[in-house]
Amino acid sequence: MVDEAYILDTSALVAGFAPEFSGAEQLTVPEVVEEAQSLSVKLKLETAITLGQIEVRDPPKKTVDKVQEKVSETGDKVSKTDVKILALALQLSEEEKNPVIVSDDYAIQNLSRLFDLPYSRIAKPGITTVFKWEKECPACGRVYSTDAEKCEACGSKLVRKPRD
Ligand SMILES: [Zn+2]
Repeated sequence: MVDEAYILDTSALVAGFAPEFSGAEQLTVPEVVEEAQSLSVKLKLETAITLGQIEVRDPPKKTVDKVQEKVSETGDKVSKTDVKILALALQLSEEEKNPVIVSDDYAIQNLSRLFDLPYSRIAKPGITTVFKWEKECPACGRVYSTDAEKCEACGSKLVRKPRD
């Protein structure tokens, strides 16, 4: 069984994501801790870190560079914190974990799609919806995994959609 790991961004904490209610492993990046310094969630976050409910991890530079490069191609305006969040998720998936990015931020959600990483919007007090992706043939409706490019039956280019 592969463990799920929730990656929390600042919006997740502000929206009231409650670390104590989730059974999964939870992580964030140092930049989120910095951003939280000026917010009302500061104490809550520090407590969760002290209690070991949230782990703070800095993703390796090569993973950050990889994300940065792909993000530049999209032309999206993305903060350094967002890039780090994505890089941490990518790093965890390379460690055979199932990262789920928890965020209310559209920029992050779009990036998650770009990298085929599952994400979740905030639902207090825990998480209810996790989006995973699959591909579908727009012509004949056959469903494929995200690594497929063309429909084997009719040759149409597949489109991505959230899995039910
Ligand atoms: Zn088809």
